[in-house]
Amino acid sequence: MAVRENAGFDYLLFDKINDLWQPFFKSHRQEGLTLPNTPLTPGLAAGRLPPEAYAHNFDDLEPVLDAHEAHVAADRCYFCHDAPCITACPTSIDIPLFIRQIATGTPEAAAKTIWDQNILGGMCARVCPTEQLCEEACVREAAEGKPVEIGRLQRFATDRVMGKGVHPYSRAANTGKRVAVVGAGPAGLACAHRLAMKGHDVVLMDRRDKPGGLNEYGIASYKAPHDFAQAEVEWLLKIGGIDLRLGVELGRDVTLDSLRAEYDAVFLGIGLGGVNALRAAGEDVKGVRDAVDFIAELRQQPDKAKLPIGRDVVVIGGGMTAVDAAVQSRLLGAQNVTIVYRRGQEKMSASRHEQDHAQQVGVRIVCNAAPVEVIGQNGAVTAVVFAYTEDGPEGLKLLADTFTLKADQVFKAIGQTLVAPEGMGGPKLATQPMAGVWTGGDCAAGGEDLTVTAVAEGRDAAEAIHASFGG
Ligand SMILES: Cc1cc2nc3c(=O)[nH]c(=O)nc-3n(C[C@H](O)[C@H](O)[C@H](O)COP(=O)(O)OP(=O)(O)OC[C@H]3O[C@@H](n4cnc5c(N)ncnc54)[C@H](O)[C@@H]3O)c2cc1C
Ligand code: SF4
Repeated sequence: MAVRENAGFDYLLFDKINDLWQPFFKSHRQEGLTLPNTPLTPGLAAGRLPPEAYAHNFDDLEPVLDAHEAHVAADRCYFCHDAPCITACPTSIDIPLFIRQIATGTPEAAAKTIWDQNILGGMCARVCPTEQLCEEACVREAAEGKPVEIGRLQRFATDRVMGKGVHPYSRAANTGKRVAVVGAGPAGLACAHRLAMKGHDVVLMDRRDKPGGLNEYGIASYKAPHDFAQAEVEWLLKIGGIDLRLGVELGRDVTLDSLRAEYDAVFLGIGLGGVNALRAAGEDVKGVRDAVDFIAELRQQPDKAKLPIGRDVVVIGGGMTAVDAAVQSRLLGAQNVTIVYRRGQEKMSASRHEQDHAQQVGVRIVCNAAPVEVIGQNGAVTAVVFAYTEDGPEGLKLLADTFTLKADQVFKAIGQTLVAPEGMGGPKLATQPMAGVWTGGDCAAGGEDLTVTAVAEGRDAAEAIHASFGG
């Protein structure tokens, strides 16, 4: 099988990097030029790796199955009655049905089965933590410790049809109803598509200059390379009836009251735009930044060799954002990358699979420690002091015992917060906070901060809006 295990790992071994660098060093020395940066260069530096390493490190982590591999994988499915994998999928895709359709040589029908429930099935096939969802529930996982490869089969089917440019949906007759959808992330996109299918006119607005939300600005580069997020949005918009308006910000360019007055319904899928503070002394020094901003910059930089990265990187947090920032720091050539999490490893919200991947690429994970002070010299970070913690029945306790990690770059990945529209405070929004207004995705109460959950909530809100129109 064409699976590339531990992508990028071989490029990160020091001997290998040194071998790769030798011709550059030699030619630079001969020409009297400054030597290029390496993983050992102190401070923040771009181009730590040989040029060809970047394309390799940031390419597809798990390439798509070919037709033969897909048939072999599909043949392992028992096509269970009351299949537990369906219950475990937040969008309730009929998994045994689409796998049977692949097994019988009709991947087009399989893709349609997936999209009927999850219009972003292509992205979800790449980013879903399947090992915690459908594949964990698969009966073959319980029996043999090796589930049916549901995620990879989903990608096989959806990629095939998208690759042909086919969009297998059309709109119902125009209803004359107009809906404003704010936020073109997974929740907003799923909502807009379902509403358009029902014959409503949708205006989809986003404050960014590209649609996709965190699919475009957050997901790790190696999970969805080759501009897949934009390709998927373009494909989704083929339904018609969705007027995409970029650079439009709720609160700055439009107000909720004006949207409620102008449209028959409003959907808010604005995600979580704020980030939590570290609350450690000295966190304002240069070199300390939010992990989500770093990842967004990385996603938008076509030439990864241009991105400066530290030699000693410390990432604070325990979720998917922390793991993605740490792994991608290593892939950019940082020598030492450490994730520090305040509770025990079993409480990290990044899945075991993600944690293993991080450790395979050389990220160190330190648990039960919290930052107490960021140390800087000449205005730039040089180290972080951590206190050990105890997680008992009374909550988390900082102990007197401390240790210090050298750092020339620190990423804060300690959770995102809601930036609520006017008149709507609180940590999350209610699913229907006021008449004519629905919410879904990360900004809404009950969300799990997963792409697939945001899609499910956007889709379900569209059904509720349609029902409210008497549909
Ligand atoms: C770094 C990172 C990595 C992740 N990796 C994974 C992963 O591998 N797998 C997974 O399942 N989940 C992952 N997640 C979680 C997942 O990305 C989110 O749960 C999902 O994107 C939520 O979708 P959403 O539509 O609710 O919000 P978002 O994707 O955040 O989209 C919200 C959109 O609203 C727009 N917006 C915000 N405010 C306004 C405003 N006032 N006016 C107009 N537009 C506005 C934003 O620009 C954005 O486009 C990750 C999250 C992060 C931060
Ligand atoms: S639980 Fe596993 S074997 Fe059963 S239908 Fe789902 S994928 Fe197939």
